[in-house]
Amino acid sequence: MAVDAAASVAGARTGADSPHCAAPGAIRLPAVHLILSDAGCEALIAEYGRVQTLEAARALLAELRGVLLAARRAESPVAPTAATDTNIPALLAMLSDRLRDSNRSPLRPVFNLTGTVLHTNLGRALLPDSAVQAVAEALRWPMNLEWDIDTGKRGDRDNLIEDLLLELTGAEAATIVNNNAAAVLLMLNTLAQGKEVIVSRGELVEIGGAFRIPDIMTRAGAVLREVGSTNRTHLKDYDEAAGPQTALMMKVHCSNYAITGFTKSVELPELSPLAQKHKIPLAVDLGSGTLVDLEQYGLPHETTVRETIAGGADLVTFSGDKLLGGPQCGIIVGRKDLIAQIKKNPLKRALRVGKLTLAALEPVLALYRAPDLLPERLTTLKLLTRPAAAMRAQAQAILPVMQAALGAGYEVRDEAMMSQIGSGALPVDQLHSHGLAIRAAEGSRISNVLGMLEQRLRSLPLPVIGRVAQDTLWLDLRCLDAHQQQRFTDQLSLLQTPA
Ligand SMILES: *Cc1c(COP(=O)(O)O)cnc(C)c1O
Repeated sequence: MAVDAAASVAGARTGADSPHCAAPGAIRLPAVHLILSDAGCEALIAEYGRVQTLEAARALLAELRGVLLAARRAESPVAPTAATDTNIPALLAMLSDRLRDSNRSPLRPVFNLTGTVLHTNLGRALLPDSAVQAVAEALRWPMNLEWDIDTGKRGDRDNLIEDLLLELTGAEAATIVNNNAAAVLLMLNTLAQGKEVIVSRGELVEIGGAFRIPDIMTRAGAVLREVGSTNRTHLKDYDEAAGPQTALMMKVHCSNYAITGFTKSVELPELSPLAQKHKIPLAVDLGSGTLVDLEQYGLPHETTVRETIAGGADLVTFSGDKLLGGPQCGIIVGRKDLIAQIKKNPLKRALRVGKLTLAALEPVLALYRAPDLLPERLTTLKLLTRPAAAMRAQAQAILPVMQAALGAGYEVRDEAMMSQIGSGALPVDQLHSHGLAIRAAEGSRISNVLGMLEQRLRSLPLPVIGRVAQDTLWLDLRCLDAHQQQRFTDQLSLLQTPA
């Protein structure tokens, strides 16, 4: 804390007359009870409670006392800036700031202008209103989470969404856990503990955030049997590796990379008959997993869960919050006997989802019954299919406000750019997008102007997260909802700095 700030709330006159706490020598701060009983403190006590306000006031006074004492020891002058001995309004203003800061949730809304729609670090899919309402209701009401209303007996939480999942995927059974990593772990632990799982070397993926197929395999107690080479794996590689020690054949979606050039991988129509011949279940970790053919919306093709089941997979695992557009969860669909085994694993209890997840997932899945309306209703798909013209109009509307806020040191333009779907969905495909490209104005003297701007955007009340590349700060407007545009531009004036 600056000495000036401390001095501004303390009197600098000599004297130790009660009720002031006399700092040795010249500086006096008000007693804490004077602050608490001041009329200006009522609003703080009403909002934060007396206990917390008192503690914060004590801490503030102790800190100020320390600063003033240190200044005195160093014999640096502490100028009295207040007319009276104690400046309670100034202290209350500091107290209010502190209480507000310490009560602000560390989890805050931000503007995702990175161009990555399903950004793992920004919480992936945004959910439609129907899901938001269902979650709010589930928070307020007791729910029949594990209670069969028809029979009045204990139920199973998976039953709440199983029928819908079967309808949308063509599978025989389904279960749901905390995320897809958990789904893969649970599947491997149930079916392959102490036994081998055959996976192609080209599919030993690492997903950001420390999910690696070989590691999850070890933690599940399964033995990874790698076959083929990085770029080429043949059917005979799987055939030769299969034996009595094999519990599972597994294919993993190359979520965040592509192997191109001289390549060969074995697809389900070939692999499924081989797995059947060896009587080994075939599992597919689809990663993102979509429930509809995205090509009908002008997006690149991504194998659907239904196609994977129809192609002969005995089990398929996928995420709830990637392309599916729902809450974080992991879904396992497939053969009834295998799902029954998985559900009996005690780990299922440790990995199960709560009522909020199920409340959010059900209305999202229900939207898939009307695929023609999906781009309007499913937020993820709405963002992915947003026309570039809409983003361009938005960019042109925001540009003058941004330019005015940034001043002459920056040049703001509206430009075409490419966004990504993100979260490992369709890693090589990019979407045509539009937004603001901000560069240092020619002749700008400040070094690291873009880094500074990026930091200033992050420190706004609703932090704005863009992307710096090629000496440009890119603000991709794909994920800036039209309803939020006003809030976005309103806070830009806070960026203004003296020229
Ligand atoms: C994303 C992904 C996972 C992990 O899913 P989470 O839902 O993030 O736990 C696992 N496997 C693949 C292939 C993925 O793409």
